[in-house]
Amino acid sequence: MQLYLYNTLTRSNQPFSPIKPNVVRMYSCGPTVYNYAHIGNMRAFLFPDLLQRVLRVVCGYKVDWVMNITDIEDKIIRDSAIGSPEWKPEMGNQTDNPNENATKLALFYEREFLNDISTIGIKREHFHAIPRATDFISEITDLVRRIIEKGFGYEADGSIYFNLTQWRKSEKYGQLFTIDTDNFRAGVRIDADEYERDQVSDFVLWKAHKEGEPSWDFELNGKNLRGRPGWHIECSAMGHATLGLPFDIHTGGVDLRFPHHEDEIAQSKAGYGVETSAFWCHNEFLEVEGTKMSKSRGNFFTLRELLQRGLDALDIRFAMMSAQYNSVYNFTFFGLESTAKARQRIQDYIYDLQDTISDSSSLKNVNATELRVAVFAELLNNLHTPKALERVFAFINSNPVSGLEANSRMELLDFFVELNAIFDVWEFGSRPTKHIEIPAEVSGYAEKRWQAKKDRNFALADEMRVKITELGFTILDSKDSYIIERL
Ligand code: AMP
Ligand code: ZN
Repeated sequence: MQLYLYNTLTRSNQPFSPIKPNVVRMYSCGPTVYNYAHIGNMRAFLFPDLLQRVLRVVCGYKVDWVMNITDIEDKIIRDSAIGSPEWKPEMGNQTDNPNENATKLALFYEREFLNDISTIGIKREHFHAIPRATDFISEITDLVRRIIEKGFGYEADGSIYFNLTQWRKSEKYGQLFTIDTDNFRAGVRIDADEYERDQVSDFVLWKAHKEGEPSWDFELNGKNLRGRPGWHIECSAMGHATLGLPFDIHTGGVDLRFPHHEDEIAQSKAGYGVETSAFWCHNEFLEVEGTKMSKSRGNFFTLRELLQRGLDALDIRFAMMSAQYNSVYNFTFFGLESTAKARQRIQDYIYDLQDTISDSSSLKNVNATELRVAVFAELLNNLHTPKALERVFAFINSNPVSGLEANSRMELLDFFVELNAIFDVWEFGSRPTKHIEIPAEVSGYAEKRWQAKKDRNFALADEMRVKITELGFTILDSKDSYIIERL
């Protein structure tokens, strides 16, 4: 089945096929582990989770999925510095060694991140690797060396910068994001990892050591340029080391198109001589009242905060998956409530299918394959989950389980198992017992109906069913008994 994906590189919906037959190599920019991830960040991790599941379940590919951990970066250093109010007792004691402090803080939040993504249904076994930047320092310095040797890197005050003027003489810069070249500031060097589009200039690959900052040795032309990597070079080196370049798909939030991904493309091509990825796919923001959810704006919720408020992690997963990844998701509690109901509606349908699976009565025959093809076609269209779910709801609304023939129920259950390999939000065990008040009138009709069925008085049985429905209930038959459900 042919998947179409929106490729930021070509700004078009493109048919996807992997470079190597049957194996998709996908790299996702992971978290900077300086604090708890908020649920906006979660959207950037749930999107590639959905994508890798569609690639495996619908397209039948093997997927090598890599998500990095940025464990050395300006904000980690800031928050692990001695005296930082962000330091937590669970991280242990701070020492005089900044490397050690940064490692302790990053390890703490890395564990929290891994717990969070597991809570929200992202499975460890689906990853090929979760590399940490500090485990790849020699690969990073090797890449910096290559860039210098090719004439695209230079040293200034102990730091190393990417020479963008030189690069732009023969190569394109601004492939993912339209950069106004009027803003290009030749010869100006920028040390920050994050900068604005009007600050396009020589960006940092390796940062000279500063007092109180973690650092590593870097031997270059007989000199030790002790320091630490810039953020962008980390992903270039880790992608190359774990997947090989070019790989098939690179993901991240839209804010990473520039400068992070733009710089990644330039560095990797300059150093390794190859492109980074065939497809670049970016998720849109999760917003609160029209603004991006972010730590700096303070308008964020972490997953644990939402769970403490009594929300279910799988409702949050389903809510985010219900919106197409490349459209803005507007976060509201009201919205979460209605997607939770939608999830439950499908869950109830699955339970109904399960509860009646041994019932062999022959009623309406439906084509589960047709439903499967229609739903998967929407997913193959740039992961259009809203349309895929619309198809599911249209189907279940017009085909209550109680009216379906046994084979159809079995096929439908198989379909929902497959669909759940993608969404991963439904259960297939026994239905949790929930207490519903059944009026005596309803149970009386139900008993009368059951007896009528036994007596093969189907006209009376049907009459009773109508009465039960009129009172807002429905009957689900199994072989030897029945259950009464609220409609
Ligand atoms: P960070 O930990 O800040 O490096 O971000 C990790 C990922 O989350 C990146 O891919 C960001 O683009 C993404 N991200 C950050 N904020 C949001 C948001 N509000 N909505 C969607 N993605 C986001
Ligand atoms: Zn990255």
